[in-house]
Amino acid sequence: MKKNQIDLRVHHFFDVIRAFGKHSDANIEPHPHGHSFHSVVELIRTRPSLEIKLVIECDSVCCGCCHCKNGLCNDNVDHRKDFISKEEFNNFVDKRAMKKCLIKIGEVLTPSQLCQKAGMYLDNIDFIYAGNDDWHTAQRKKDVIKGLKYYSRLHDIKIIKAQD
Ligand code: SF4
Repeated sequence: MKKNQIDLRVHHFFDVIRAFGKHSDANIEPHPHGHSFHSVVELIRTRPSLEIKLVIECDSVCCGCCHCKNGLCNDNVDHRKDFISKEEFNNFVDKRAMKKCLIKIGEVLTPSQLCQKAGMYLDNIDFIYAGNDDWHTAQRKKDVIKGLKYYSRLHDIKIIKAQD
């Protein structure tokens, strides 16, 4: 994947940062569903000035996914009872994350700029993922912090507020 600009749900951006926390230098293997998370991870890993348009719809991660139909995700969530549709759950998470991170739909930011939003994301992660298991959100938070440290060291990015 070689692009100057990609579309991303903001929670997918932080999923990429979390992947750096979990897997560090390791490559992410392509997923059986055919989506492009592994390619987006490498694009962001190598290009801190990549242009990312923030969207609330199927994005560049969803490219090639067997669940992406007419711009909507037709997959289901199985980790909680109040949502069935993954599209609706993703919209719920992204609307909360964008509000707390002061990001508008359609805004274009680089990975470096999005990393500066990480403090707001982390401070509000319990609100953003309200309804998920607490232990899972706590682990997500730890992995995102670890990934931020990896990414900021890799590209010499000074993050204004990264928690320990
Ligand atoms: S279409 Fe759905 S399952 Fe596929 S990558 Fe996108 S959000 Fe994930």
